[in-house]
Parts: sequence; structure tokens; C-alpha cells
Amino acid sequence: MPVPFSYTINPGRVLFGPGTLASVAEEVTRLGARRALVLSTPFQRPDALALSERLGPLSAGVFSEATMHTPVDVTDKAMAAYAAARADCIVALGGGSTIGLSKAIAYRNDAPQIVIPTTYAGSEVTPILGQTEDGLKTTVRHPGILPEVVIYDPDLTLALPVATSVSSGLNAMAHAVEALYARDRNPVSSMLAVEGVRALRDALPAIVAEPRNAAARSDALYGTWLCGTVLGTVGMSLHHKLCHTLGGSFNLPHAETHAIVLPHAAAYNAGSATEALRPLSELFGGPIGAGLYDFARALGASLSLKSLGLQESQLDLAADLAVKNPYWNPRPVECQAIRQLLQRAWEGTRPL
Ligand code: NAD
Repeated sequence: MPVPFSYTINPGRVLFGPGTLASVAEEVTRLGARRALVLSTPFQRPDALALSERLGPLSAGVFSEATMHTPVDVTDKAMAAYAAARADCIVALGGGSTIGLSKAIAYRNDAPQIVIPTTYAGSEVTPILGQTEDGLKTTVRHPGILPEVVIYDPDLTLALPVATSVSSGLNAMAHAVEALYARDRNPVSSMLAVEGVRALRDALPAIVAEPRNAAARSDALYGTWLCGTVLGTVGMSLHHKLCHTLGGSFNLPHAETHAIVLPHAAAYNAGSATEALRPLSELFGGPIGAGLYDFARALGASLSLKSLGLQESQLDLAADLAVKNPYWNPRPVECQAIRQLLQRAWEGTRPL
């Protein structure tokens, strides 16, 4: 029997499948729009130009300066480009950084968004925007931030480098792990979380073995959608707080940091969320922290914060910052235990 719960379902239209990129023009028209500004990073500019060409008269041009952490000055430039192009909707092609820029524009001018994720970050299905100004990262949550349409075309992920696929896939799993023990979880979010982890657990080893494996790429993107959905639905805990601290205050890379910290955060919480995490212990064949660590190691993922350039002398400060204004967590967040957790993550030691 389910315990009483409340569940707010985020609206949004999702198209999934190889070749769905061909639907973009139809989706622009469906939104009642006529001039789409196409967004990308500088690296994905050629893909954005090709998409713009494919849109023909429905394209208002390309803005290809999306970058990590959604800096407000880049958003200001993009807002000016949107106005100058007389655009009336956004088409964002890329990972969490490009989708972050799309959300930042929509947050300011309510532009309708069609987003086409090419990584496994999961931002496309959340009403959450993180942006930075003067080195400070702030997060806003607002219904207007949620993209109206998401197009998941696995063909676009075939060339995602293996190392990025692995770290990004583990980043997606982290949303689901924390969703399972979220205070505001519900039976639907838990179902999505387990299925999302299962899909990625099966897909990532196949992608490492054969990066252009179309079936595995589809499974990984399917898992991404589920894991992103729960990120947008329920609250996150210690793991996300640790990663926000390490990314925000020590400039560590987003997906890789998530991938390294996840087994340690899961191990920290395992004893306080045994029932909630049981489906994952079954998927990984044992204690969840060690299981996730062995999985990441088998995929060739980076295992230590040391390898990302964090200094051991920074761990005290990282622990102090991480326990300040903690997010709700199933196990009390204690400074000394967090410092030990960070030490293990820094060294890359297998959790117990
Ligand atoms: P990213 O978007 O920064 O992409 C990393 C690099 O990979 C970029 O140069 C990009 O152009 C390139 N790339 C993307 N797809 C590719 C592909 N298919 N083939 C080859 N190269 C490709 O990285 P990310 O991890 O997707 O996103 C990280 C950002 O997203 C962070 O800023 C994070 O805070 C944000 N994020 C936000 C949410 C949210 O809900 N608000 C959720 C998850 C992540």
C-alpha cells in the first residue's frame, strides 16, 4: 500500500527516437512560432548551422556562445541576439550548458523552447536554472523555465566521446539515486528512478565496448529522460549539495564530479535509506556504494577528486562549505563524517 504522497507532474511534450531531429520544423510550427533562434556551444556550432539550414525560413539564425555555468553576461548577449533576430522561439541543441542558456532566455522573456539534448545531464526536463554572476552561482526554480518540447534523438549522441558518455551517464544516475530517498518521493518518481538506473546500467558498458551502438545509445537516452524527470520532480540531498559545493567553489567539472562523488554519497546514506535503495542494491549486486564504485571503475571512469586537480589542503574548506545550509538528507550531515567522505572521494578509495 503506498504511503500518502503529493506529486506535481511537470507538463511538456517529449519526442523520442532515432531521426526525430527531422521533426524540429514541425514542432516550431506546432508552437505557433515562425522564427527560431538556434543555440549551441562554439564546439557544436557546425551542427547548429546545419539545423538552422534545415529549418530554412523558420530559422532566425544561430547563437553559438553557450558555455558552462550559464554566465549572465552570455545570457545578456543572447537576449540581444534574440531581439535583433526578431525570434519568437528557441531551439537549443546540446548538453546542459546550451539548455541552461535556453532556460535563462526563457526565464527572462518567456520564449517557448524546443530543446534537443546531446548529453545525459537531464536538464531538459527540469524547471531549474543555475546561473552565475560575479563568480556566484544561484539556482532558480520556476514553471516558465521548463522547456515546452524535448526531442531525444539518439543519433545525435553516437559521437559523444566515451569518457563524456560515462561521466554524463553517471551524472544522470545520481539524480535517480537521490530521488529514491528524497523526502518528497512518491511511487511514480521511485519507479522512474529505478528504471532510469537500470537502463543506464545496461547501456553504459555497451557504449564503452562499442560507442556507436545505436541500441545502447537509445537505452542511455531513455534512462537520461527518466533520471532527469525525477530530478525535476523531487528534492535532491547530500550528493547534489557536495557536487554544487565542489563545482561552485572549486570550479571542478560538473559531470565528472558527480561521477566520482556518487558512490561515496550513496554509501554515506545507505544505512539510513536501506529500503528505498534496495532496488539499486539488487541492480548492482551488493552494497550500493561499493556497487556503484565497481561499476564506474569497470567503465574506466575517473575515480578520484585528486585526478580533477583538487588539492588535499582544500578538503577542510570543502567539508565546511558542504555542511553549511545542508539540503535535507536521510542521514544527518555531520562535518567530521563528510570530511572523511571527501577524503575517500579525493583518494578514490572504494566505499565500504
Ligand atoms: P556541457 O553541456 O557543458 O557539454 C560539454 C561539452 O560537450 C560541450 O563542449 C558540448 O558542446 C559538448 N557536447 C555535447 N554533446 C555532444 C555530443 N553529442 N558530441 C560531442 N560533443 C558534445 O555538459 P553537460 O554535462 O551536458 O552539462 C553541464 C551543465 O548542465 C552544468 O552547468 C550543470 O549545472 C547543468 N545542468 C543543469 C541541470 C538543471 O536541471 N538545471 C541539470 C543537469 C545539468
